[in-house]
Amino acid sequence: MNRVALVTGGNRGIGLAVARQLAKDGLRVAVTYRSDPPPDDFLAVRCDVRDSASIDRAVAEVREELGPVDVLVANAGITRDRPFLVMTEEEFAEVVDTNLMGAYRVARRVVRDMMRRRTGRIVMISSVAGLVGAAGQANYASSKAGLVGLARSLALELSGRGVTVNVVAPGWIDTDMTSALPEKVTAAIRTQVPLQRQGTAEEVAEVVAFLAGEGAGYVTGAVLPVDGGLSLGR
Ligand code: NDP
Repeated sequence: MNRVALVTGGNRGIGLAVARQLAKDGLRVAVTYRSDPPPDDFLAVRCDVRDSASIDRAVAEVREELGPVDVLVANAGITRDRPFLVMTEEEFAEVVDTNLMGAYRVARRVVRDMMRRRTGRIVMISSVAGLVGAAGQANYASSKAGLVGLARSLALELSGRGVTVNVVAPGWIDTDMTSALPEKVTAAIRTQVPLQRQGTAEEVAEVVAFLAGEGAGYVTGAVLPVDGGLSLGR
C-alpha cells in the first residue's frame, strides 16, 4: 500500500506544490486548508493549526480515510512583519502560535503512529530567516528558529524508531506570502541572492519530497536551505 502524506497548508503556495510532488511520487496525499480547499483532488481536511480540537478532527479524518500518516510536512505559516518596537505582543504570539506551536501540535498527533509502526518522515518548513535573522521579522524568525530546535530534538528522540525529522529552510520563494512585499524590498533581496532570482514553490517541493522519500533514510536532524545561496556561509 502506498505511503500516506499529510501536508498542512496544502491548499496553495509551497504546501500545494509539495502535495503535488508527493502525489506524483506515488504517495496518497491529504492536505489541510483553513478557508479555501485546494484546486486539486487531494483529500482536503479543514484545519486551523492554532486550534487543537480542529487538528484532532483533521488527523482523525485522514487516519480514517487513508490510514496512519507516514509523512508529515509541517508547512502552514504566516508573517506579521513590523519593526520590533512597534510589533505588538499579539503579533509576536500569533506568529509563534501558528508557525512553531502549530507544527508541534500536528507532529504530536502523528508521532505515536509513526513510533508504533517504526517508520515515518517529518519535514518542517522553516525559513532562511530562522537561520540568519531578518529585520522586521523578529516574531517570524523566532518561530522558524524554534522549528530547528524542535526538529532536532525530535530527530534524537525518534531516531531509534525509524522516524526521521528534517528541516527545509526556503529563501525568497514566489508565493502569495512574498508577492505582498514592496518592490523596494524585493529589489534589495534580489541583489543578495547568489543565484540572482526568486525560487519557485516547485523547487522547494523537490527537496521536501527527497527528504520524505525512502532514499533519505540516513538523513535526520538536517537543515537544508533552498535559498539560491542566500544563507551561504552564514
Ligand atoms: P502562503 O501564504 O502562500 O500559504 C500559507 C499557507 O499556510 C496557506 O495554506 C494557509 O492556509 C496556511 N496557514 C496559515 N495559517 C494557518 C493556520 N492557522 N492553520 C492552518 N493553516 C494555516 O505561504 P507560502 O506557501 O509562501 O509559505 C508556506 C511555508 O513556507 C510557510 O511556513 C512559510 O513561512 C514558509 N516559507 C515561505 C517562504 C517564501 O518566500 N514564500 C520563505 C521561507 C519560508 P489558508 O490558505 O487557509 O490561509
